[in-house]
Amino acid sequence: MSQAHQGGDGRRRVVIVGGGFGGLACARALAGADVDVTLIDKRNHHLFQPLLYQVATAALSPADIAVPLRGVLAKAKNVRVLLGEVCGIDPDRRQVSLTDGTTVPYEQLVLATGSAYNYFAHPEWAQQAPAPKSIADARHIRASLLKAFEDAERADDAAHREALLTFVVVGGGPTGVEMAGTIAELARHTLKGNFRNIDPACAKIILVEAGPRILSAFPEELSTYAVDALRRMGVDVRLGCAVEGLDDHGLDTKAGRINARTIIWGAGIKAAQGAAWLGGTHDRNGRIPVADNMAVVGHERIFAIGDVALLEQDGAALPALAQVAQQQGTHLGRELRVLAIPRPFRYRSRGDTAVIGRHSAVYSLGKYQLKGRFAWFLWGLAHVYLLIGFDRRALVMFQWIWRYLTFERGARLID
Ligand SMILES: Cc1cc2nc3c(=O)[nH]c(=O)nc-3n(C[C@H](O)[C@H](O)[C@H](O)COP(=O)(O)OP(=O)(O)OC[C@H]3O[C@@H](n4cnc5c(N)ncnc54)[C@H](O)[C@@H]3O)c2cc1C
Repeated sequence: MSQAHQGGDGRRRVVIVGGGFGGLACARALAGADVDVTLIDKRNHHLFQPLLYQVATAALSPADIAVPLRGVLAKAKNVRVLLGEVCGIDPDRRQVSLTDGTTVPYEQLVLATGSAYNYFAHPEWAQQAPAPKSIADARHIRASLLKAFEDAERADDAAHREALLTFVVVGGGPTGVEMAGTIAELARHTLKGNFRNIDPACAKIILVEAGPRILSAFPEELSTYAVDALRRMGVDVRLGCAVEGLDDHGLDTKAGRINARTIIWGAGIKAAQGAAWLGGTHDRNGRIPVADNMAVVGHERIFAIGDVALLEQDGAALPALAQVAQQQGTHLGRELRVLAIPRPFRYRSRGDTAVIGRHSAVYSLGKYQLKGRFAWFLWGLAHVYLLIGFDRRALVMFQWIWRYLTFERGARLID
């Protein structure tokens, strides 16, 4: 092994690309080990994506759900953080390349670059239908939502006003359901009495889903419950309604045209870069196939975890979830502390949750199912538990309780 691939004192050098759920868990599990760790991320913060929709709908501020990577890892003296964007890997030289032209050598490499939204061969749709993936996206969506109400207040033409007050969410997965439910609450409760020419409660919120049911990863009974709950909240749920085209004034679907100024995308994801850097095989969502110890097939020194990895367990691919990425990262980090070749990983689900609105959520774990208030409570607990940093947990919890009691949204800013 050449000197470059080792850290100080000839220690093993582990490079982690991505400080999301998987990468950060891996770095934390390696803290204090006899290994030199470099965590590279193109952002300087870890982002709690499951609560992005709350930033997009003005319930939380960006700083509530993001924490600086340097701060989280300050006490881990063997871990250094590099702000930079990786653009390639040279497995023969064992180094990663960054967009600024520099390279970082590794002895072992962990890819944890996550995923991006899938616009299904129409990347241009991202322009009209942004998706909540980063803080910038969430702020952009928040501004578009709030601006639509402002513009409607000033619009004289009835058809124009109606289009301004029509909000379409594409995709009936957890993100789409959460977005649609929260926009309905914003319109029906938070903005009540705030305008003089329009009644925000008249806003149309439409959730379009290409498939026959929403929350398709959950048991059918919970999908039905979610549809009923959304409809009670005033959301128009349209099933079997695939999007065929998008423009500045609305969208064309299999079931007809919808005029709307604000369209939010929440349909499907594809793996972030990673497979292309290795030139190997990947599935149709771009995920890198890995062995049960998360080593990339054909590359024993390179590991992939989280959304970018394709790991099959009991005959099915593990889902793209924060808890999967976090468990994989923690397992891999613990293994790499002492072993050059990690032992197999086994995912243990703590259950899947999706929130629909105020005191309405679904939870499923194997044959156990919950819906309603208690599921909502569990959803809240799970998210607060996963949040990094005690200050943030306390703050977010306090804000939720306040909002629950008052319907108030403290982050109603157009910036
Ligand atoms: C809106 C939304 C809601 C969600 N809700 C839930 C939920 O309720 N429950 C749940 O379990 N999961 C949820 N998820 C999924 C969950 O967030 C992901 O499964 C999880 O973030 C995956 O972790 P990861 O470590 O693989 O990637 P990420 O957490 O996405 O982290 C990837 C990191 O890699 C960095 N990166 C990417 N490319 C590069 C590069 N080229 N160079 C350097 N750095 C790079 C990124 O900046 C990022 O920090 C949600 C996702 C979204 C978008």
